Amino acid sequence: MHMQEEWDATPILKAAELRVTPQRVAILETMKQMGQVHPTAEEIYSHLKNHFPAISFATVYNALKSFLDADIIHELRYGDKASRYDLNTVNHHHLICDRCGMMMDVYLPEIDISAAVQEHHFDMRSYHIEVRGLCKNCRDLDVRKAD
Ligand SMILES: [Zn+2]
Ligand SMILES: [Zn+2]
Repeated sequence: MHMQEEWDATPILKAAELRVTPQRVAILETMKQMGQVHPTAEEIYSHLKNHFPAISFATVYNALKSFLDADIIHELRYGDKASRYDLNTVNHHHLICDRCGMMMDVYLPEIDISAAVQEHHFDMRSYHIEVRGLCKNCRDLDVRKAD
């Protein structure tokens, strides 16, 4: 977490031409502090409430919406489950643990899928690879149980 002092939410908001409010700064900083959790709006809200007891869920939700519109965060949707939010807007993919839900950012070489997409006359906006399995923590627990 030694990068934290250099990381500042204010210039990110300004560059995105979003109004800088203490709530918006706090929401972005909370997401940064939460690391690679890829939190839901609910998780961000309960984290923030400890420091900003007056903040409402609607404020968090609306801020996330404006961050999405400004493209400074990404949304990860999983069917009808709550969306997760990603502060990492560099093109990346995810390893997802089926047991504990851990999501880890991974960087993969570009894959040329244009031919497959064109075949279906599909207007592709983005693609995202999910690798599902068991994370190291969960695997270590299994090993310990087996001993
Ligand atoms: Zn796990
Ligand atoms: Zn991510």
